[in-house]
Amino acid sequence: MEIGTLDDLDLPTSRRGDSLRHFWSLIAAIGENPLGTVRAKAAIVTVSTSVLAGASIQMPAAPAWRHAAALLPPGKNEKMFLEVTGDSPFDPETQVLGNPRDVRTGAYYIRPFGWPVIECFVGRECARVMVQDSPEAGFVHALEELAALFGSDVRRVLGPLIASGWSRNPNVGGAYSCALPRNGIAREVLARPFENRLFFAGEATHGFDFSTAHGAHDSGVRAAEEAIGSIAAARLRHARAFICLVPAARICKIEDIPTDHEE
Ligand SMILES: Cc1cc2nc3c(=O)[nH]c(=O)nc-3n(C[C@H](O)[C@H](O)[C@H](O)COP(=O)(O)OP(=O)(O)OC[C@H]3O[C@@H](n4cnc5c(N)ncnc54)[C@H](O)[C@@H]3O)c2cc1C
Repeated sequence: MEIGTLDDLDLPTSRRGDSLRHFWSLIAAIGENPLGTVRAKAAIVTVSTSVLAGASIQMPAAPAWRHAAALLPPGKNEKMFLEVTGDSPFDPETQVLGNPRDVRTGAYYIRPFGWPVIECFVGRECARVMVQDSPEAGFVHALEELAALFGSDVRRVLGPLIASGWSRNPNVGGAYSCALPRNGIAREVLARPFENRLFFAGEATHGFDFSTAHGAHDSGVRAAEEAIGSIAAARLRHARAFICLVPAARICKIEDIPTDHEE
């Protein structure tokens, strides 16, 4: 899909240097797909801060954005689901905390909507164990906590179903951004556009609804509006440049143009 070409870009010659080449490499990298290479006048980058701070994307000369992303690293949270089979002591729509005195504790949402599952939300140490050791280690820990709360018989009715691995996934690298102390301002830096062609979205760029799904959504709307505005402004500049090239003798006022009736 060919949306535009390098020559369409309204950039001063001095800016057509390395940064622009890298910019186009980025677009090409994002756009490589079975349909070919996508080229665009603007792009929105919305990968996690872990990916942005890493080396997997070739970024333009934009160290400020990489640095900002590094100051907003994703924390560790994971989820796992246990299946409940047969008779069990689990009442639907119940929430319990495994052990408030244990940093590895999970928060358990029991039989959401009456479904035969338990959703376990874990952070910090337990998430680290699931990532560094194995998802099975997480299931074992969850079973221990639930057996301690509901009796060891629950082991017979609970089985591992599925577990997330956000921190292990190289395209995500964690749960959601957590600013390092005194570095919340980095969100503002991360949200700035690069050369009005590369725009940044994602929960980490939101000033106050960071770390949430709706913050991610709203940041995408903001970045899309910025990109559209930038393209519209570039078109206007092109149009103005064209008008300046029209010889003065050919310029007439709108009311001087004959209407259909007068012809
Ligand atoms: C366990 C857990 C529970 C949560 N609970 C809640 C909750 O209850 N309420 C709430 O509001 N929020 C919750 N969140 C947070 C919410 O899920 C995130 O804030 C939100 O998903 C972030 O969206 P995002 O688009 O910024 O980033 P992401 O969802 O990380 O999206 C980034 C995307 O970029 C893709 N990508 C990476 N590299 C490339 C590349 N090179 N090319 C193309 N694509 C690439 C990734 O695959 C990914 O799909 C939770 C998160 C976790 C992990």
